[in-house]
This record gives sequence, structure tokens and C-alpha cells, in this order.
Amino acid sequence: MTTKCTTVRRLRVKVFIIWKVKRMALDLDVIVDNLYVGSQQATKDPSMLRELGVTHVVTVSDGPIDKIVNSGFFKYKFIEGIDFDITDLLQRFPEVTAFIEEGVKSGAVLVHCVAGVSRSVTMVMAYLMEKNGMSFDDALKLVQQKRKYANPNDGFIKQLKLYEKMKCRLDPSDEEYRVYRLSSLAITMQGHQPKDAGMFLPGDLTDTPTANDSDIIFRCKKCRQPLFNRSCFYKHTVGPGEAAFDWRGASNTEKSTEICDKSIFIHPVQWMKQSIIDTEGKLSCPKCSAKVGSYVWHGEQCPCGEWVIPAFHIQTSKVDECKPIQTDIRNRVEPGQNT
Ligand SMILES: [Zn+2]
Ligand SMILES: [Zn+2]
Repeated sequence: MTTKCTTVRRLRVKVFIIWKVKRMALDLDVIVDNLYVGSQQATKDPSMLRELGVTHVVTVSDGPIDKIVNSGFFKYKFIEGIDFDITDLLQRFPEVTAFIEEGVKSGAVLVHCVAGVSRSVTMVMAYLMEKNGMSFDDALKLVQQKRKYANPNDGFIKQLKLYEKMKCRLDPSDEEYRVYRLSSLAITMQGHQPKDAGMFLPGDLTDTPTANDSDIIFRCKKCRQPLFNRSCFYKHTVGPGEAAFDWRGASNTEKSTEICDKSIFIHPVQWMKQSIIDTEGKLSCPKCSAKVGSYVWHGEQCPCGEWVIPAFHIQTSKVDECKPIQTDIRNRVEPGQNT
């Protein structure tokens, strides 16, 4: 019995030493069972990773790691993204967390970026929050305990907090998420790649209203076509007014919390899909083609002085605000109905 215990203990010590040596040779840290986070250096020797039990690798970087792909040892996921605040990792959280979950259950996972500080840590935190039910704060604390350099950039912190707020799923009805998506689209639209209507994800464009909507409808003044609802407004707080247009410099007035009602800016609507893939242009009624407004992906300054980015600007004189019909139907007494 004693001999058996001693053998087991020796074996454990041996395994621990091998593990320690491997760890020192590869820049990675274990966060929870079967989940490692590391730098690109951690991928230098695929066979060592394999000895550690790694079966799945996630790379978040500007290019995939050929050595890992060509080794044929691993299930592999490559997420393209540089370590900038504006890089959209949030959109990829569900797919990456599912991949990590599969790997943790069937083997072990390495999530890495270039330095193992920001991008990879962000992905691992999204996993801990979604699959292990941790809060943002607890996930950050745990990762920083296990890897002292862990430090997601400010943009990724905002994305993780938004994910936490949406109960770790992407919720197209969440107002903050809608604004986030629109800002991401605006950044894409300012890039140099060719654009097409396929870049819009479900939920990016609001549904074209129908006559039965219970919300206030704005119709084309010329042909009465429903164009958008009041819930579609892209709100902004009142800017510094005339001072914003003064070339001598911005005023020092404090930022207002009041919502501006000087102009109508809206979230893009389905009927605009094919016509908003340039950097800017006009918005025309889908039925009679009358011009009802304009759009500028890099933004426009409202008369209140505030920049609205992107700007889908509706000309108030080209639309009519109509009360929902539903209320009238509900209150109407049907013919032959006894009261
Ligand atoms: Zn029209
Ligand atoms: Zn304004």
C-alpha cells in the first residue's frame, strides 16, 4: 500500500516537473482546467503543445499560424483582428466560446494572439463569462491572477461589458448593441475594401414598418409609403450649438444630457439596403423615388453642433408623422356588435 502511494506521488511530481518545464519553454498560462492563454511564441513547437494535451488552437491575429495549420494535429480557428480599440471581437464571441467549450471538453485549448495580453485574453474572458457564468470583474481577476500581463484594451473591455449586459449573447434589440453595430459598420465603410449589401448582419437594418405597427410611423409625404418608426431614431445629446461651428475653437461648456430634437437621424432601414453601400449618398423613397434624406457613413454635424456618426439624415419636410392605426381599430365598434 505504502509503495503504491509513493509511486503515485513520484509520478505526480514527475508530471508536474514536465509540465513546469514545458510551460517555461512555451509562453502560455493555464487559466482553468484544459484552457491555456499565451503569446505567439506558444505556437513555436506544435509537438510540445500536443504533449501538453492541446487539441484545439485559437489564433487572434492578423494572419493564421502556418506551423499549427500544417501540423495536422489540431482543430484550428483563426480570428482576424489587430489589437485596436475599434477591432470588433464581440461579433465573434459566440463562435469562439463554442469552439473553446468543445476543446475544453474533449482535450485542451490554447487561445493565443501576438503577446498574449489583450486579444487572446478577451476571448478567454468571453468564454469564462458565457460558459462558466462569471462576471466581467471575476473573469478579469482570474485571468490576471493566472497571467500577470493580461490586459485587454479599452475597446475590448467595452465589448466584454456589453456582452455581459446582454447576458452573453448578441441581442439585436439591445439599443447599446445596435449603436455598437452601427459604429462598427461605419468603420468598415470607411475602409478600402469593396462593399456589398451582404455585409449587413440580421438586425443591422431595421424592418420597414407596416401599416399595422403599434409605433408612430413616418411616411413619405409624396406617396404615403411607410419609411420608418419612431423607435428607429438614432438619438444624440444636444451638442455645443453655434460654438461647434466656430473655427476659433470649441467652447468649454459641459456636455449636455438632453436628447436633441433639431433633426431626424435614424438607424438604417431594410429598404435602404442596396443604396447605402457607398461612403455617402441620397436616401430615396423605395416606392416613388422622391428624395427623403441623405446618408454619410463618416458622419455629419447636426445643427445643434453634435457630430452624428454615421448619419442617416431624414429631411423633416419630406415625411409625415402618423399615429399608429391599431389604436383606432381597437377602439372601433364593429358593425352589428352589441354593446
Ligand atoms: Zn414616396
Ligand atoms: Zn442635434
